[in-house]
Amino acid sequence: MGVDGGEEEQMQESTECHERIFVSVRLRPLSEKEIVRHDVSDWECINDNTIIYRSKLSVSERSMYPTAYTFDNVFGSDCRNRQVYETGAKEVVLSVVSGINSSVFAYGQTSSGKTYTMTGITEYAMADIYDYIQRHKEREFILKFSAIEIYNESVRDLLSADSSPLRLLDDPERGIVVEKLTEETLRDWNHFKDLLSVCEAQRQIGETSLNEASSRSHQILRVTIESSAREFLGNDKSSMLAATVSFVDLAGSERASQSLSAGARLKEGCHINRSLLTLGTVIRKLSKGRNGHIPFRDSKLTRILQSSLGGNARTAIICTMSPARSHVEQSRNTLLFASCAK
Ligand code: ADP
Ligand code: MG
Repeated sequence: MGVDGGEEEQMQESTECHERIFVSVRLRPLSEKEIVRHDVSDWECINDNTIIYRSKLSVSERSMYPTAYTFDNVFGSDCRNRQVYETGAKEVVLSVVSGINSSVFAYGQTSSGKTYTMTGITEYAMADIYDYIQRHKEREFILKFSAIEIYNESVRDLLSADSSPLRLLDDPERGIVVEKLTEETLRDWNHFKDLLSVCEAQRQIGETSLNEASSRSHQILRVTIESSAREFLGNDKSSMLAATVSFVDLAGSERASQSLSAGARLKEGCHINRSLLTLGTVIRKLSKGRNGHIPFRDSKLTRILQSSLGGNARTAIICTMSPARSHVEQSRNTLLFASCAK
């Protein structure tokens, strides 16, 4: 772990950072499995910003939990990926073409819809980026793609057959870089889709038992976009822009649960996810715009994403949740995380 002072970790403008993090909550429909076991839906999105717990709270619960929660956006179980992207992520994503780093996260318990949501968002985002490029022929764009997985604080290249852990290096110019990470220059949309398939295959190879590894690992897909005006006035380089957009499918948030009993926590101990916990702390501090130390260095995930979270970067967090009564505790944890992030 680094122990430097890190001036770059100090946030300067408290009010500005606040507007850089957009928080949405997405409720998925009840699953077949949940319906079969007569699980019921306890949650309802009553407008574009408010989700409510519509079952009766017991007297003791009433003092502990709110019935209504508000966010930048909430998406009910009938919302499609397109709408989630357009309303919850598009503005943040597209700041990348103007040279501003951005990141989109899916946060939530396993099986709440993170991968479903991120897959949709990533595709709509890339389609929009290609559309933007089409409409701006006066500039030349170069897109580079990389993909990693973080599992047990170990970083793996999802575009390489070699699954040995990669090191993080502190580059004086580029910040944190993942050593030896494959970076593909994208030729076109089809090339992008092909690379997504490679990642998917690599991710599955790494999985020991079904759904286990993916619930414990974070996947980060990154697209770096460089652009420059086709016609230079002299050797004016000021028109060059470069920024990265990161699409992050997080490990299941039950790995960060603080509410486990002592015994359960002991048993789960090694599975509590350091990166997920640190991300929570970092986002909480960023959203409060607190001056002072932001512990980016405390985990691999936050180190890698530092330039996509801090500074003037823009972030969209989509918190996914199951509507099922059987998941109410995890859903409340997710809403608590979402509330702290906004
Ligand atoms: P996670 O990545 O959080 O573990 P998944 O994205 O794999 O969860 O979702 C679990 C299951 O629920 C999948 O079968 C997925 O297709 C389905 N699902 C998730 N969200 C939705 C949604 N909004 N609409 C319909 N099906 C969904
Ligand atoms: Mg998943």
